[in-house]
Amino acid sequence: MVQRKPLIAGNWKMNLNHFEAIKLVQKLAFALNDKDFDKVEVAVLPPFTDLRSVQTLVDGDKLRIVYGAQDLSQYDAGAYTGEVSGAMLAKLGCTYVTIGHSERRQYHGEDEDIVNAKVQAAYRHSLTPILCVGEPLSVRQEGGHIAYCLAQLDGALRKIAAEQAKSIVVAYEPVWAIGTGEVATPEDAQEACGALRMRLAELYDTEVASGIRILYGGSVKSGNIKGIMAQADVDGALVGGASIDADEFAKICRFS
Ligand code: PEP
Repeated sequence: MVQRKPLIAGNWKMNLNHFEAIKLVQKLAFALNDKDFDKVEVAVLPPFTDLRSVQTLVDGDKLRIVYGAQDLSQYDAGAYTGEVSGAMLAKLGCTYVTIGHSERRQYHGEDEDIVNAKVQAAYRHSLTPILCVGEPLSVRQEGGHIAYCLAQLDGALRKIAAEQAKSIVVAYEPVWAIGTGEVATPEDAQEACGALRMRLAELYDTEVASGIRILYGGSVKSGNIKGIMAQADVDGALVGGASIDADEFAKICRFS
């Protein structure tokens, strides 16, 4: 059986300046020890403006925390004012980049084609996508949530070969659970993550699918993480609001 190392990733969203970023990462590094890092991969996803400071701290203090960005441009360079390229993120030592977060789909009109282009851009620069999928409340109420998430997965992975896809991280983030305090039940999380893994096996093969980490995201806290992590197809969590509190995030990282 393939062992998937759990990943707990903190999406800071548009919070914390670069001084605050340093403080939070220092506090987090202090709260966690080597045994924790042996069991779980811990990632932070700060705003772009914090990345250089986080890189300096992580490299300088040889921290076992990894980091990434919350978005990237689908283009590699050129006249795209305000955008940040995959090459720039790679140069800053980013491991991960979040793609297709529901807030980007909702507020920035990111559709299936853009999400797919961003996944391709991430791989061009050896960044690992954390690909977010998840249904709005109305879709869940109609019972179409699984089909909705699978269609988002299919769209995002167009033209992505198995060799690349095997490193992807998929995050199931039901829109109705993000920032609302309303967490999915462990059974809901398992249903969606299990279905996503089955679709990955259809798109690629069972070996690729069984190596891919699938996270749950949506109002994760230290009080609800244990039940979610106990599910067979849940390999970690993408944590928003609770990730900008170092003590709470450290507790989430020690979910067992
Ligand atoms: C997120 O932003 O990806 C998220 C899951 O947010 P929250 O944990 O605040 O619901």
